[in-house]
Amino acid sequence: MEYITLNNGVKMPMLGYGTFQIPAGDTERCVLDAISAGYRSIDTAQGYFNEEGVGEAVSKCGIPRAELFLTTKIWISNGGYERAKNSIDESLRRLKTDYVDLMLIHQPFNDYYGSYRAMEEACRAGKIRAIGVSNFMPDRFIDIAGFVEVTPAVNQLEVHVFQQQKAAREILKKHGTQLMAWSPLAQGKNGLFNNETLAGIGETYGKTAAQVNLRFLIQLGVVIIPKSTHKERMEENFALFDFKLTDKEMRELETLDLGVSQFIDHYSPEVAELFVGAGKADQ
Ligand code: NDP
Repeated sequence: MEYITLNNGVKMPMLGYGTFQIPAGDTERCVLDAISAGYRSIDTAQGYFNEEGVGEAVSKCGIPRAELFLTTKIWISNGGYERAKNSIDESLRRLKTDYVDLMLIHQPFNDYYGSYRAMEEACRAGKIRAIGVSNFMPDRFIDIAGFVEVTPAVNQLEVHVFQQQKAAREILKKHGTQLMAWSPLAQGKNGLFNNETLAGIGETYGKTAAQVNLRFLIQLGVVIIPKSTHKERMEENFALFDFKLTDKEMRELETLDLGVSQFIDHYSPEVAELFVGAGKADQ
């Protein structure tokens, strides 16, 4: 496993396991499988309604808590200082742990400054080791980084070969904030698993298109958290540290960038209305 050191000195695995859309009832089994496949970093969120399953797996897996890296996220409905503060304690209870390694604000909606202050406070109290944001596109990221005490350690954004986030990468670098990729496999969109360029490069190393795409992100310095409910795919997505892409291959893969989301446009009013609606409905 390779690690990076965040801007506050905390060490984080470059590769973790994502749990979005894993039903609550399957989460414990999936996370136990992931841990037995070698994953030590697990990404969940209040909004995934599966923190309890992650907590069950963490408490049963037999791996010391200090060797695991747990990330969760504050949902929009828990925005604002008081609600966020309570929700942090609730997340810890569901995750059966007295600290999380990384806590993020899931979306730049509701009172995220209040939520951020609650995270800063919880960090000082030892309940969180590092704090950051997610889905903060460059404009929102510059705003929050400009007015908070603790610079975000991480910004989790959609990143894969088709959305390489070039502009965001430059800005995050300036602030010393680590980029973490959500949907690093683009959930297979745009034919990622059968892409000819990825598969062609993979042939040289005996690797799949998925593995080449994930290795590309690691070599860009992006933390990744691929999700699968299948053990053999968890293993496939974990086998990334026994080959290295050449500079020429990296340049070739850079040309696959479409520079737009495969999922969602955070600048669109319709998407903003959707998130505001979802946040209110959950309150
Ligand atoms: P991914 O890009 O990780 O893709 C997951 C999909 O690809 C699943 O359908 C999975 O199927 C399939 N898959 C996985 N590996 C392979 C493989 N080797 N070959 C073929 N198919 C494969 O999508 P996610 O959206 O889950 O993103 C990863 C994580 O990022 C999430 O789980 C979550 O933790 C985080 N995330 C965060 C967001 C945010 O707003 N902050 C938004 C979205 C995700 P199957 O499970 O059936 O194997």
